[in-house]
Amino acid sequence: MSASAGDERPPSHLFYQSRQRRPLIDRAEGVYLWDTDGRRYLDGSSGAMVSNIGHSNPRVLEAMQAQMARATFAYRLHFENEPAERLAARTAAAMPPEMDRVFFVSGGSEAVESCMKLARQYAVATGQASRYKVISRFPSYHGATLGALAVTGYAPMSAPFSPMMHEMPKIPAPTCYLDRDGLDMHQRGLRYANMLEAEILRQGPETVLAFIMEPVGGAATGALVAPDSYYPRIREICERYGVLLIHDEVMSGAGRTGRFLAGEHWGVTPDLIALSKGFAAGYAPLGAMVAPGWMVEPVLDTGGFIHGYTYAGNPLACAAGLAVLDEIESRDLVGNAARMGERLRARLDGLAERFPMIGDVRGKGLLLAMELVADHETMAVLPPERMAAARLVELAYERGLIIYWRRSRGGYSGDHVLVCPPLIVDESHIEEIAATLGDALAALEAELAAPL
Ligand code: PLP
Repeated sequence: MSASAGDERPPSHLFYQSRQRRPLIDRAEGVYLWDTDGRRYLDGSSGAMVSNIGHSNPRVLEAMQAQMARATFAYRLHFENEPAERLAARTAAAMPPEMDRVFFVSGGSEAVESCMKLARQYAVATGQASRYKVISRFPSYHGATLGALAVTGYAPMSAPFSPMMHEMPKIPAPTCYLDRDGLDMHQRGLRYANMLEAEILRQGPETVLAFIMEPVGGAATGALVAPDSYYPRIREICERYGVLLIHDEVMSGAGRTGRFLAGEHWGVTPDLIALSKGFAAGYAPLGAMVAPGWMVEPVLDTGGFIHGYTYAGNPLACAAGLAVLDEIESRDLVGNAARMGERLRARLDGLAERFPMIGDVRGKGLLLAMELVADHETMAVLPPERMAAARLVELAYERGLIIYWRRSRGGYSGDHVLVCPPLIVDESHIEEIAATLGDALAALEAELAAPL
């Protein structure tokens, strides 16, 4: 049931993006969710790439109940709390050397805002007050708040708000799979990375504060992975011009790509990291900014970090986060993401052989996507009004599989679906996802063959 046709329920006082109604959730366990009519759904997108350790994990619920019985809220200006202290230490231990200072927030947009504001205060504290521009990529997604939206490259989301924002410079995301330029992937990676240098020079290096990127792309690009040559060159360019490198690992972090941080695949350590989503895996609203001491200390020495949220370091959220980290580490879910990711990728590649409308399968670990196109060779987009990826999501939903769609080419056209199940999936779940997706794709193919 995706729309309100035949829906007997009274109108809702709640509203989100649209009038679309969905079934009521009854319960969830492991990789499955059940609605109140008893229908079962496989969570093939972990919600919005959030529920990395699956649903209703007993160890996490127990840890939360134990913390609830002690204290659910103690304001950080009045008390320190043990779960926040322990989670900060454990988070730091999971980061590259030097990235050992942790600032808690309640979600991904807040994590991104915090990174940009700490970067700015660091610049001011170290005599570089002329630096304020944060360069980002197009397409990209960094959050919905006005600051995070200013670095987001997804046109329909920012267009209505552009007069209200200080929109930041963008360079093209490394969409090498679309290029027909005779270069090899190594050369293309360098070509896209060099666009950052050109943009820094165009803006004036003394005005550029930071560059923000998703090491493995999320919803806006459909799990875009750059060639290996891209990552170290970006690091080098940032270094050369004193530009801080921010890795937005809100979606790619906490093990989803088969490493705890996606940046680890290329051995690149950024200057700031934003985490959320899988970090507390949906058990509590939680995120974090991770920074090195050399950035935090000058800010604290010169009046302090002028930024914070009421729920920062909430003991209940941090107790959930700690138990989630325990699960990730003790069950080797990062390794499972790598292993099951390969298997799922092979199944998606198999579907691409069966269905010519699948133009590209990409991603890393269990952050995977399929782009749907009109022409495999030219990668021409499907007519936007067919809403092909959105239809595929509905057809899969009707068949008991949840996946996630977005537009690949900047927001107004291009179709992809993200297939990103929880990191606890096993072989049988992968086979179930592939079989259901195959049925849904066959139904979509038939729909697209008919006129609108
Ligand atoms: N950054 C990335 C890469 C994301 O994927 C998202 C959400 O999808 C965000 C930031 C914003 O996170 P939130 O929706 O929790 O504010």
